[in-house]
Amino acid sequence: MAVPKRKVSKARRDKRRSSVWKLGAPTLTECPQCHTLKAPHKACPECGYVNADLSVKDGKITVKAAAAKKEEVKVEETKAVAEEAEAVEEVSAE
Ligand SMILES: [Zn+2]
Repeated sequence: MAVPKRKVSKARRDKRRSSVWKLGAPTLTECPQCHTLKAPHKACPECGYVNADLSVKDGKITVKAAAAKKEEVKVEETKAVAEEAEAVEEVSAE
């Protein structure tokens, strides 16, 4: 078993313990909606804000209409791309 070469002095030991075992202040960011301080990457405890399209309040998840619409547009876009690909395939088959 590895053994320390020298005894760690009381001063060295105590210095080490004094700096390592200090508690740091938690990191807080400002909520863009109600401007209270909140933990980063968490829903705001005051207003439930998560991002522009999503908020969580009292266990209720609210997805805004803009986000839902975006999803619809995406689905339509993928459909259009798929149809285009099919059309191209048909042309190349001829
Ligand atoms: Zn907020």
